[in-house]
Amino acid sequence: PPLYMQRYQFVIDYVKTYRPKKVIDFGCAECCLLKKLKFHRNGIQLLVGVDINSVVLLKRMHTLAPLISDYLQPSDGPLTIELYQGSVTEREPCTRGFDLVTCVELIEHLELVEVASFSEVVFGYMSPGAVIVSTPNSEFNPLLPGLRGFRNYDHKFEWTRAEFQTWAHNVCRDYGYSVHFTGVGEAVGHWREVGFCTQIAVFQRNFHDSMSNAERLEPSVYRLMYKVVY
Ligand code: SAM
Repeated sequence: PPLYMQRYQFVIDYVKTYRPKKVIDFGCAECCLLKKLKFHRNGIQLLVGVDINSVVLLKRMHTLAPLISDYLQPSDGPLTIELYQGSVTEREPCTRGFDLVTCVELIEHLELVEVASFSEVVFGYMSPGAVIVSTPNSEFNPLLPGLRGFRNYDHKFEWTRAEFQTWAHNVCRDYGYSVHFTGVGEAVGHWREVGFCTQIAVFQRNFHDSMSNAERLEPSVYRLMYKVVY
């Protein structure tokens, strides 16, 4: 399967194993991952997508609408889906108390100063139970045919494994998380040592909190674009 599918599958497998009830996908773009998570719900009750670009959000958000089959075979309890236009660098009260935050191919679109606010907002302010962050591994780039510079014109940086891991370990130290590293897309033979094409960090919060049962606050910074309750 193509690399982007492998990234989505990684998240789906995580959800299957850990069964988070409240999930936010940052940089959700055309809602592809949200749509898959809606299909492989595994007990998810609240699914939120956030993107800074309202044009991409609007494009495909109708694909999240319930299907007739969703009504004919009501599955595991009510599901709410919300889409917001907003930035991961802003503190938004309604994003607190989540079990899982996913950031698939998002951070490399931020300036490095924004990565610092992203870390503070996501790990410090939102403080979710777990965070999955994926980003290109620049050590893999020599294997990509015809590539010069970054993989996408909008990337502000692409990190080596050491750079990514340094950032992640600092986040753990500052905000009380543990992390492990993995990835998707492997080269063959001796090229394996460059690591995965996409590197992934899975963070787990070190302390238990009571926030996930607290009442959810109203949105005050983000703009609600779409909401559906099944
Ligand atoms: N996660 C999706 C996927 O894997 O298919 C799309 C990733 S796309 C490469 C990066 C997305 O991040 C874009 O849709 C972009 O608009 C969004 N983005 C960039 N900066 C952002 C920010 N500060 N806050 C929220 N989203 C942002």
